[in-house]
Amino acid sequence: MSGPNTNDDPVATSALDAAQVERHVTEALAAIAQASTTAELKDVRIAHVGDHSPLALANREIGSLPPAERREVGKRVGMARGRVKQALAARTAEVAETELEASLAAEAVDVTLPVQTHPQGAMHPLTALIDMVSDVFTSMGWEVAEGPECESEWFNFDALNLGTDHPARALQDTLWIDPVSDGKCLRTATSPVQIHTLLAHGAPVRIISPGKVFRADEYDATHLPVFHQVEGLCVDKGISMAHLKGTLDHFAQAIFGDVRTRFRPHYFPFTEPSAEVDVECFVCHGESVGNPARPCRTCRSEGWIEWGGCGVVNPRVLRACGVDTDVYSGFAFGMGLDRTVMVRNNASDLREFVEGDVRFSRSLLGGAR
Ligand SMILES: [Zn+2]
Repeated sequence: MSGPNTNDDPVATSALDAAQVERHVTEALAAIAQASTTAELKDVRIAHVGDHSPLALANREIGSLPPAERREVGKRVGMARGRVKQALAARTAEVAETELEASLAAEAVDVTLPVQTHPQGAMHPLTALIDMVSDVFTSMGWEVAEGPECESEWFNFDALNLGTDHPARALQDTLWIDPVSDGKCLRTATSPVQIHTLLAHGAPVRIISPGKVFRADEYDATHLPVFHQVEGLCVDKGISMAHLKGTLDHFAQAIFGDVRTRFRPHYFPFTEPSAEVDVECFVCHGESVGNPARPCRTCRSEGWIEWGGCGVVNPRVLRACGVDTDVYSGFAFGMGLDRTVMVRNNASDLREFVEGDVRFSRSLLGGAR
């Protein structure tokens, strides 16, 4: 640093000494070389080039020199400051370049990295089964028919030959719409669609009607107040029980693979004769029956699985729809679609069908044929 000067006795101060100036330059250049970030360079700039830096102070001292000396000392200090500024500019450019490269490398996008995508949904297993059943029947020339889910009592019961005292009409089985005296209910089966179709188109007719049906049931693992059925109706000249058996065999094989069906006598008001239809177990094909060494979970080692109901259409039903029963006869069948999915895909809890967990749908679709 410079010592005190007086105007009337100007003297060369140590700050302007050649060795001293050279020492400031050396220090500045070392600091510049050591700085590796823009922030460090900023500090170096303040310390060695700023207004209070030793070289700036030396520069100010020049004015107090005797005029004869100013020129040489001024040149020395000026060159010293120039060297420092030059080195600082070069180092600043170098550091900026390095920092830019580092930030580009850090922010670079790796296009080979796996991307975060929204998980896809899955088709509901019931929708998939309805599509499949529709394909089976439309490929045989049948049509898919739909009808209202809210029905009048006549379509839901009377036309299907369910008497006014039939227990299915009771409040505990049927969901009636307020006021009950209006005779409107949520359909308890898809059978009313058969009546609508016969009334609208007459015979001959071949339809299946998949859809929702409603019962006043509990909500638990084996019951839902809303579930799904598919019904089939064929009315034509000369239709018999044999046509029914052949159709259901084909249907069962399309859904379950190489299996047989069997009929067990039963009673339904809308068919006569009526039968319950069982499908041969598609897992063990009956080999688990009486064979404790090979138990079968799917059929509970019974060899057969209950599948639905069927029969020859009761002539009273056809007559209620204006069909000439001297010319036409028909068969009808109905299956629970939820139950079919449960058996076919080994699902154990009906509630999973309505809880909307996509993992359930995916797991069943994975097991679909
Ligand atoms: Zn089995």
